[in-house]
Amino acid sequence: MDLAMLSTIPKAWFGIGAALLGVLIWLLWFIFHNPYSYPYYFVDIDISKRRNVNIQEEIEKYLLDKGMDEFLNQFNYVEQWESDTFEAAKKSIFRFKRVKQYLDILDDDNMFIFNLCRDQTRYRQRNYVKSSYVVSAASDTCECNLAYLQARYDELERIGFETTTVKYHAKNQRQLMTPELRRRIMERDNYTCQVCGKYMPDEVGLHIDHIIPVSRGGKTVESNLQVLCSKCNGHKSNRV
Ligand SMILES: [Zn+2]
Repeated sequence: MDLAMLSTIPKAWFGIGAALLGVLIWLLWFIFHNPYSYPYYFVDIDISKRRNVNIQEEIEKYLLDKGMDEFLNQFNYVEQWESDTFEAAKKSIFRFKRVKQYLDILDDDNMFIFNLCRDQTRYRQRNYVKSSYVVSAASDTCECNLAYLQARYDELERIGFETTTVKYHAKNQRQLMTPELRRRIMERDNYTCQVCGKYMPDEVGLHIDHIIPVSRGGKTVESNLQVLCSKCNGHKSNRV
């Protein structure tokens, strides 16, 4: 076919050809692109201005604070979503492709994604003026399933929800006595010796005592701590 012949083909045919090609490309895209995406659940934990952060312990702190409800609810939601999506895939006119695509995106072992986020200060310069702005960046990530969270939660329950398992099993229990914990115990016991009842609001001469001594496996948790005056604390040490 020479150019003269080509020019005799009505122009409209090129338009129709282009439209058909477009439809074909769209159809291929429609069939082959995966329409499903797994409903991951993200939890961002802010660890700005903190050092030596352990992600497992941060997850435990989150569980101590919020419990399992949101994760159980999300799990139920995902189960429902999975059965609905699978049914829809089986009914699709491209069912063989769709069922495979659905199975491809399933990722139940990584259903929950915890991000440890840290604020980072960044700078921009414009017209010789430098200004700062803060962005939140994930510094560590942990993906897990419901069984993992439930196991951690059960472990926390076993130790009475008083602290994280990391702290509970820590070798140096005395190191866990923070000024903040000391304050909480002082306030709880109203600055009063729990043996003789002496009230000392200025705190001088009051001690925080481990009811079961650390040397005998006692933990630095609120239920094992009490306020004692020097005298009673001394007597106790002599006895033990
Ligand atoms: Zn006393």
